[in-house]
Amino acid sequence: WRVLGFESSCDETGVALVECREGEAPRLLAQGLHSQIEMHQAYGGVVPELASRDHIRRVLPLTRQVLQSADLGLHELDAIAYTQGPGLAGALLVGAGTAVALAASLGLPALPVHHLEGHLLSPFLSADPPQFPFVCLLVSGGHSQLMRVGAVGDYELLGETIDDAAGEAFDKSAKLLGLPYPGGPHLARLAESGRADAYALPRPLLHSGDLNFSFAGLKTAVLTQARKIDLQDAQLRADLAASTQAAIVEVLLKKSLAALKQTGLRRLVVAGGVGANRSLRQALDQACARRGVRVHYPELALCTDNGAMIALAAAMRWQATQAGQPSQPAPTAPAPAGSFEVRPRWPLAMS
Ligand code: ATP
Ligand code: MG
Ligand code: FE
Repeated sequence: WRVLGFESSCDETGVALVECREGEAPRLLAQGLHSQIEMHQAYGGVVPELASRDHIRRVLPLTRQVLQSADLGLHELDAIAYTQGPGLAGALLVGAGTAVALAASLGLPALPVHHLEGHLLSPFLSADPPQFPFVCLLVSGGHSQLMRVGAVGDYELLGETIDDAAGEAFDKSAKLLGLPYPGGPHLARLAESGRADAYALPRPLLHSGDLNFSFAGLKTAVLTQARKIDLQDAQLRADLAASTQAAIVEVLLKKSLAALKQTGLRRLVVAGGVGANRSLRQALDQACARRGVRVHYPELALCTDNGAMIALAAAMRWQATQAGQPSQPAPTAPAPAGSFEVRPRWPLAMS
């Protein structure tokens, strides 16, 4: 069973081909990705209209390239998956429109996928895939959540951010330090030469007793510090970067440990762009090793948006349905033939 997946929720056009056989782990056959980061950098963030237009330019060439590198033709596919939401409406429409049109022309099912389910299942394509059940720390550019994951389609929200996402905290702080968009990886690199204890920054909600996050106050604290120091001084900038990263990492670590404790689970899965952060991985690996907890990550290249996770999520859902498992979020009511809808706002799990 082969599924072609399209991702276009934000500023990455992703196309990928995943194969799955009953009783076997799904395999990635080929993938193509085009990032629009350079295009948006001049504006310091994603410009939605430019994003949609670029998805249109890239999606078909990428599709050809993926099929070619897998040495497969369109008639050898079994389903077409696409990100239905959440994300930018105009950007989502490109992937969805392409997928639905392609599926209709080939007589194949078009499968809508929740973007966050893609992120959350992406570690199943790694060399060390997890087993259910587990706690998932999903930390991306738009979301920060802790979930209890019982199976494909069995997601319970344990806690989430009440304001900014972790990736947003990285990006906004990085911007204050004069780093290019998206700032997360740049801030992480700068932090390597800084002292993490140079500045005392707040750890919001660290002792709130629940599993929610808040990062908006941290950004304000970084701004206050940034105004006090000479940002031309490379060492001071690195120190502030390292202190910022340490604050975010400590909150993510402590809340993840609290979620493991609360659920009694001994397996942690990290997903989303911030999951690529080395300092976060080190902190989680160390703390979890001490507690006998296994930690699983996506391959570095699959932490941020990609088509592979969308094709994978569709494939795993298909497998779960074959096995008679219920699935959540509930599939959308089937659209009239040839039409479709996107869901720019769409929660994955309920608490
Ligand atoms: P969402 O999935 O919530 O809709 P998104 O798709 O924009 O948001 P992702 O693609 O999962 O988010 O991740 C992008 C985010 O990850 C950005 O905020 C980026 O700065 C951050 N990020 C990527 N690499 C790193 C890193 N090494 N350290 C910290 N942050 C990082
Ligand atoms: Mg992106
Ligand atoms: Fe994403």
